[in-house]
Amino acid sequence: MEAITTAMDTTLEIIESETGFLVGGEYGGNAVEVVRTDSGLQCQCFIAQVSHDDCEHIRAVREYIASVPMSLERPMLSQANADLYLSKLGELEMAEATNEASANEQTGRIQLWLEMESEKLARKKAYYIQALDNFMLMNEYKTKRLVAGTLKLRSQQPEIKINDEAKVLMDERFVRIIPEKRALDKTALRKYCMDTGEEIPGIEFILKPHKFSYKLNGDV
Ligand SMILES: [Zn+2]
Repeated sequence: MEAITTAMDTTLEIIESETGFLVGGEYGGNAVEVVRTDSGLQCQCFIAQVSHDDCEHIRAVREYIASVPMSLERPMLSQANADLYLSKLGELEMAEATNEASANEQTGRIQLWLEMESEKLARKKAYYIQALDNFMLMNEYKTKRLVAGTLKLRSQQPEIKINDEAKVLMDERFVRIIPEKRALDKTALRKYCMDTGEEIPGIEFILKPHKFSYKLNGDV
């Protein structure tokens, strides 16, 4: 394809919009966008990125602007070109769809990779956590400051689960009289159970595992 010389020739080669120009690629290449900026025309092609000189697209746009200064004088789009533009739209949409499918596929792979890596790291962390938990337990430390951070072992109070409130209410010690109503005195019940360790009828002791936590220096 020859260099663009006249307005008639440029109908296909350059499409103008408010933001810039789409310049048709030569030898069947992809069209390149030349945008209008405050500092002048800017092309997104490779040549324009690496060179300070104007690339062929910017030169073509300059010629186009010089040859068709008034928008009214610009030639009408022929039906054949309308058809061509429409097919270009189709090509661009296909490219969009292909990109989207490709991105989705890669996102899926990245997600899978992330899950697998996270699992591996979590398993490795579990070894250290287990060992440090044990270290605290064996040494009967509650808090241990180390160079890398602080370890804490917090014992948790057992939970007293009331399975049969009616049964517990039969024991007057754990009854709190609320006018017109017999209600469980949970405070008295808890105190009694904690003091004696006795699992009275109607309740169940649920021992809770201690809670291990760690905090690295530098953590907020
Ligand atoms: Zn260019």
